[in-house]
Amino acid sequence: MSHPRVLVVEDEPSIAETLEYSLQSEGFAVQLAGTGGEGLEYFLGNAPDFIILDVGLPDISGFEVCREIRKTSNVPVLFLTARESEIDRVVGLEIGADDYVVKPFSPRELVARVRAILRRSQNQTANANGELIRVGELQIDCDRMQAHWQKTSLNLSRYEFGLLKVFLQHPGRVYTRDQLMDLVWDEPEASLDRTVDAHIKGLRAKLREADSELDAIVTHRGVGYSLREEL
Ligand code: CA
Repeated sequence: MSHPRVLVVEDEPSIAETLEYSLQSEGFAVQLAGTGGEGLEYFLGNAPDFIILDVGLPDISGFEVCREIRKTSNVPVLFLTARESEIDRVVGLEIGADDYVVKPFSPRELVARVRAILRRSQNQTANANGELIRVGELQIDCDRMQAHWQKTSLNLSRYEFGLLKVFLQHPGRVYTRDQLMDLVWDEPEASLDRTVDAHIKGLRAKLREADSELDAIVTHRGVGYSLREEL
């Protein structure tokens, strides 16, 4: 990807233009859209490599836009939120955001974030072929259902392995207990939220057994869990 194409959906012209300038000067090709409808139209016609999405748009909310996008695409989406109170929705709802930035933000930091997410998603695509997923020194082999921290093999149960696989596929993404249950368990209705907590606890214990310094899984109080991005 020599010039990744970034779609910026933002109705405040000053913010949109600042982003356009910052991204272009870092080698990105930028398309601006001022409404959710325009953004979706561009997305459908052009398949951008990355989408920056304001939550508060004049027609439909950024959440709606993201939901539509996720019906057909796994393109990375970074949300711009105006209020701390929107963050819970960004991370808590099943909208599949990759990251978020709270306004006001530093354009330089935002561009760095975009780069990091793009790099990550490219690595994941490359890894998916060999069914090896790796974040830092933590690696799983999906075909063999084996997990390793550095050279140490982790003896994970089926559900612990399933949880780790979900986390490794999207480091940093916060999952609610319900989402984890849907993604990992065969019969989610039959289980309780506490089941997720119990298996997370088991997974953490095994990671710590491999490396006492290893604190890979983050608890988001009242929301859920995520994998630390830097391992
Ligand atoms: Ca707005």
